[in-house]
Amino acid sequence: MTTNPEKTLTEWCEVSSDETCRLLQTNSQGLSSEEAEKRLMENGPNKLEEKNKKSLLSIFLSQFKDLMIWVLIAAALITAYVSHMENEPPIDTVIIAIVVILNAVLGTAQEYKAETSLEALKKMAAPTARVLRNGSVKIIPAADVVAGDIVLLEAGDSIPADIRILESSSLKVEESALTGESKPVNKYIDPISKPNGRKVALGDQINMAFMGTNVVYGRGSGAVVAVGMKTQIGKIAGELSETKEETTPLQKKLNQISKYISVLVIVIAVAVFAIGILTGQDTLRMFLTAVSLAVAAIPEGMVAVVTIVLALGMSRMAKKGALVRRLPAVETLGSTQVICSDKTGTLTQNKMTVQKMWLFKEISDPNSEELSLMTEAFAECNDSRIDENGKVVGDPTENAFLNYLTDSGLKTADELRNRVRVGEIPFDSERKRSTVAVSKEMRDPTGSHSVRIYVKGTAEGIAERSVSAFKDGQIVPMTDEMRDSILKANEDMAEKALRVLAFAYKDADSAGNVDIDHMEETENGLIFCGLSGMIDPARPEVKETIQICRKAGITPVMITGDHKTTAVAIANDLGLLDDGRIAITGSDLEEMSDSELDQNITKIGVYARVSPEHKVRIVDAWQKRGNIVAMTGDGVNDAPALKRADIGVGMGITGTDVAKGAADMVLTDDNFATIVIAVKEGRGIFDNIHKTVSFLLSSNIGEVIAILTATILGFTLLSPIHILWVNLVTDTFPALSLGVEPPEKDIMERKPRDSKMPILTKRQWANIFSIGLVGAVLTLTAYFAGSQISAQTGTTMAFMTLGLIQLFAALGFQSERSSIFRIHPKEHPYLWAAFFGSAALQVVIVLVPFLRDIFGLTVLTLSEWAIIAVLCFAMLLFIEIKKAYYRHLYRKNLEKEGQTA
Ligand code: ADP
Ligand code: MG
Repeated sequence: MTTNPEKTLTEWCEVSSDETCRLLQTNSQGLSSEEAEKRLMENGPNKLEEKNKKSLLSIFLSQFKDLMIWVLIAAALITAYVSHMENEPPIDTVIIAIVVILNAVLGTAQEYKAETSLEALKKMAAPTARVLRNGSVKIIPAADVVAGDIVLLEAGDSIPADIRILESSSLKVEESALTGESKPVNKYIDPISKPNGRKVALGDQINMAFMGTNVVYGRGSGAVVAVGMKTQIGKIAGELSETKEETTPLQKKLNQISKYISVLVIVIAVAVFAIGILTGQDTLRMFLTAVSLAVAAIPEGMVAVVTIVLALGMSRMAKKGALVRRLPAVETLGSTQVICSDKTGTLTQNKMTVQKMWLFKEISDPNSEELSLMTEAFAECNDSRIDENGKVVGDPTENAFLNYLTDSGLKTADELRNRVRVGEIPFDSERKRSTVAVSKEMRDPTGSHSVRIYVKGTAEGIAERSVSAFKDGQIVPMTDEMRDSILKANEDMAEKALRVLAFAYKDADSAGNVDIDHMEETENGLIFCGLSGMIDPARPEVKETIQICRKAGITPVMITGDHKTTAVAIANDLGLLDDGRIAITGSDLEEMSDSELDQNITKIGVYARVSPEHKVRIVDAWQKRGNIVAMTGDGVNDAPALKRADIGVGMGITGTDVAKGAADMVLTDDNFATIVIAVKEGRGIFDNIHKTVSFLLSSNIGEVIAILTATILGFTLLSPIHILWVNLVTDTFPALSLGVEPPEKDIMERKPRDSKMPILTKRQWANIFSIGLVGAVLTLTAYFAGSQISAQTGTTMAFMTLGLIQLFAALGFQSERSSIFRIHPKEHPYLWAAFFGSAALQVVIVLVPFLRDIFGLTVLTLSEWAIIAVLCFAMLLFIEIKKAYYRHLYRKNLEKEGQTA
């Protein structure tokens, strides 16, 4: 027996359903867990092979792609040669070698950490599949699907493997990933005969569904015939599976800045070398100084730090329930200005309970004869299931009806498990209706009609399609007054924030026309049999979150398929319309021209009774105003809007695979509040990268100015190894720690960052430059103070001062405006750890005789230490004065804004 289609002469699409099951040794109950386990062991996981996986070694080796490292290695070789010729211990060589190795190790550690946290995120977002095992439905990782598994499919699912369809109710699959054809293909179960013995093209295999394609409509099931690399996509995936790495806009811009600076630094390094030679300084010394300067001042570490900050930020967001699927989204999130959110499940809890039953009057007794048809429809027109533990699983709206039936004792769980239907038209958010046909003979053998059709959906839709109604125990023709009273009852319930569904039925002779092609016919001429109103409480944390949005300059917008009155009731409850915005419906929207919508978009807070395609228009209108828009979605039809939005937000729990696939970020808890938490994190991450970059640049500028000045004045400020040391110790740890600190307290009280602004504004460049300049002046001052004793004392003091003031600068960069003394060290623990750790590493070199000798330094007296302390204090003072000035500017700006507003 073989489960490999290549070994059989016929193709899977040619064999009958029964034969398929026989060949695969499976049946309608699915495989047993043990059998599935065995097949998984034998045939391996259902995965496409991934290329380009980075090993630790390859990451380490890639560190040596950097030109600067090779310059350093060359410098090490030259110093080794010179020491050998002059019979001196090769101290410089050893230190340069240590710097090279440390650099590579630190670089590797950072990149590896970034790589592994991204890998872990990918695992969290791994796709799942619904399969039958031992006769019951199980959700398993798609990688665990084996040949012979019976997979259940519904609208929005990604097909997890190659499947022979065994059941199809209006199943439609979009196969463009495989065939390039974007029009969905109807799927059937009958075998296909080979045209003249030729192969059946993939696009014509309408009883097969292939891995990587998506169900866009209907429901069905099928048996897995091929997994992993044996699938059709696996066969062509050889070239496709390379995972491409995305660089974010921020990374690109920083790369650019980094390149400009590199060129500038190299020019300066060459100048330093030339000036040194011209002023008669030692050639080798000057060469090493120039090299060290270049190595220290070129901000090659900047891009690496940014990558790790982004990656760590992503895993922090994941812990809070927001899985970011693409690195650039982390950045965009921080600039989000508008969040368009679904109501049901995102703003509300998606825990629905039936509260009211109405059939031309409110009826509270579930056993009332008048409700019997509606409660029948509750059971039959329902896709939810009760699993073996008695838990109701399915769409929360439909779950509510099953819960109602069991809670009121109308039906037992066993009775509800035995529902059989002969046809259906599934719910979709466009029609806002669903229809099911059941065979009547099973219950009523004497009945003259063979099937009964149940329809549920919006009150408007059902009232319109009903020609009669079940009233006071009999079927009477529907009058206009009755229709009005239905809509009035609907409105009354909606005002109490209830979600209303209407129910209707009709008897028919055949169920053959219950499919989407005969929708109009089937869902017409109905008998209205009741309204039910259910409550879906708002998520308690959302109210507060809406207020946070307000303060943060983010506009929340509600989008729902639900009734306008219900939507407004909930929006008011959440304070969403407190700012005087209005609610409109999808049909209002349709009547508006694009330019009308553009003009009014900021005045609309709630969109009710919308269809998914309306979402695209809403996104467009906001974007035309230059806004960064986040949009949530769960269904197949939401995918275009999710793609269009700057941040597409998929729902982790209720979302379909298709929506998740189109999203930039997936919420594991479906919660609106989580989006705002992610925005906060995004802002924090951007802020932190900004701080890291500013700090690195100011340190580098300080070093360059100090050394350039000294060279021009004709003295040696620092030895090459001092420069390398300062660069390694004081740059790496404080820079990294600035990048991983939690967001500042007031981060959600600022306006969103303008995404069109450059990363560093002129003022920020001025700030960076001024700190660098002051640092250089202070370092030179230290040298002059020390050189009164000896050049060695001068260098020792300059070395200490340069290292330490950079640490103070790092403290300064933890906030643009807040005084260092106003931020509790507990808020920025990493930074303070880096501050003390790096300071200790710096000072220890002078204090430990052995290290002091290696670095060519001398003992400092107490008064010399005092001078260094004063210089550090001067740096602190400078930073604090500047911050006070920025605070003043900020307040003035706020006042000005206040006046214009
Ligand atoms: P939302 O998710 O924004 O609340 P939906 O698209 O789920 O909106 O629902 C819109 C309307 O469609 C509801 O008000 C209800 O009348 C109807 N509806 C919702 N779920 C179902 C369902 N499972 N079957 C039939 N009709 C439904
Ligand atoms: Mg819904």
